[in-house]
Amino acid sequence: MIEIGLTGGIGSGKSTVADMLVDRGAVLLDADRIVRGLQAPGATVFAAMVERWGDEIIADDGTLNRPAVASIVFSDADELEALNGIVHPAVAEEMKAQREAVQGLDAIVVLDIPLLVRADGTSDKDRYANLAGVIVVDVDSDLAVARLVALRGFDEHDARARVANQATREQRRAVADFVIDNSGSLAELGPQVDEVWSWALGLSRCASSDPSRRT
Ligand code: ADP
Repeated sequence: MIEIGLTGGIGSGKSTVADMLVDRGAVLLDADRIVRGLQAPGATVFAAMVERWGDEIIADDGTLNRPAVASIVFSDADELEALNGIVHPAVAEEMKAQREAVQGLDAIVVLDIPLLVRADGTSDKDRYANLAGVIVVDVDSDLAVARLVALRGFDEHDARARVANQATREQRRAVADFVIDNSGSLAELGPQVDEVWSWALGLSRCASSDPSRRT
């Protein structure tokens, strides 16, 4: 088993690349999906958030009112820090549990980690010290915003605020072992994912021929 980190800004195409890697045989561990699970009504992170911000962050159907949370945290750095303090440790713990569950499998595990590099330029790479490599999906911020607005229903102002609150392209590329340029069409993404998958298979073969790395 080897673990590869996959990161990129919001709207970069990270989930799209993750799905394409799964099509080629990867096992995906997805931090966003974990966050959504922990933020489901009654789950731990949901409860901690409601304790801090009250019922105004609960929608009429009892689920998390994400726009309400966004409007609190994206205009106030202290509130954003508080949110990160609630969410990040819980996600890291759940991710760790899921990683332990796939230990020993003959698999290429892709960890989808949006915040591998934080906005302050620091990196969580130490926490993920076992990573055999890091893939960064890179795209111009304006194109990411345009895709979020056109294809994922984001409000443009919200999309811009989110992109601005994240690490820069340069900060992410600095930790990359492999950069995927997603400025082209989906058709242009496929060959790059093929290339990254061959690279991952090579890393996996090296790891399995090195007894010290066998899990
Ligand atoms: P992320 O997971 O990084 O936030 P997504 O993978 O969800 O980003 O991509 C954002 C949106 O852009 C999605 O609707 C996705 O289908 C679309 N998308 C991704 N890559 C491309 C591309 N090369 N061309 C056109 N649309 C794309």
